[in-house]
Amino acid sequence: MPVLFIGHGSPMNAIADNAWTRGFRALGDALPKARAILAVSAHWYVDGTLLTANDPPETIHDFGGFPRELYEIQYPARGSTELAKRVETLLASREAALSSDWGLDHGTWTVLRHMRPAADLPVVQLSIDQRLSPAEHLAIGRALEPLRDEGILIVASGNVTHNLRHAFRSMQTGDQTRPAWAAQFDHEIEAAVMQHDDQRLVSGITSDHARLAHPSLDHYLPLLYAAGASTRDDAVSFPTTGWDLGSLSMRSIRFG
Ligand code: ZN
Repeated sequence: MPVLFIGHGSPMNAIADNAWTRGFRALGDALPKARAILAVSAHWYVDGTLLTANDPPETIHDFGGFPRELYEIQYPARGSTELAKRVETLLASREAALSSDWGLDHGTWTVLRHMRPAADLPVVQLSIDQRLSPAEHLAIGRALEPLRDEGILIVASGNVTHNLRHAFRSMQTGDQTRPAWAAQFDHEIEAAVMQHDDQRLVSGITSDHARLAHPSLDHYLPLLYAAGASTRDDAVSFPTTGWDLGSLSMRSIRFG
């Protein structure tokens, strides 16, 4: 199975028809048939490496100030205790554990709604332990690689650049000018993934422009899971690209 990193952007993409949501649909149509989906979302950023054990997983509306329509959306996929336990075993050395405290947050369902509108594949979500280093997140991604041979589609959801303060200012002023730090960081990531340069993905987030691209790392770290689960033999392509709210890169990455 391929491995995906999806730039999910605004929760409004759940109900939008734009270049990115059409890209998610085209990507979903082009994928080989999976048995189940393991989703890694920027929005489950907690102390611990946890797996959703509930079946079905709850659709979580983890955002504020959006139209009521968005809160009424359900993504009615089944869960999979079998997959959750399989990943728990793969990540035993990381003290991964099953949890019934979460479900599918908007990092996952706003994308899957387009990629897999039938919601006919079981979905398990994996949390991102906020205490770990970038190298440790990459290592967890590596440990997930065997799932690809078991028909599991790994979907990591974040954004290549994510500075909410800048995005909100752009929303208020209507100024869609792309700042240099965003363009530079997006370009560096594009080059690093095309070269399978995982070390650069781990170490390249300390520069001044990287800190502006990611004042906190929650939306960057999912990329390390996808890159970690990829191999040097995987072809790399970008199913969606472009910019929203001036500085938010909507780049998605397909490995394999
Ligand atoms: Zn997000």
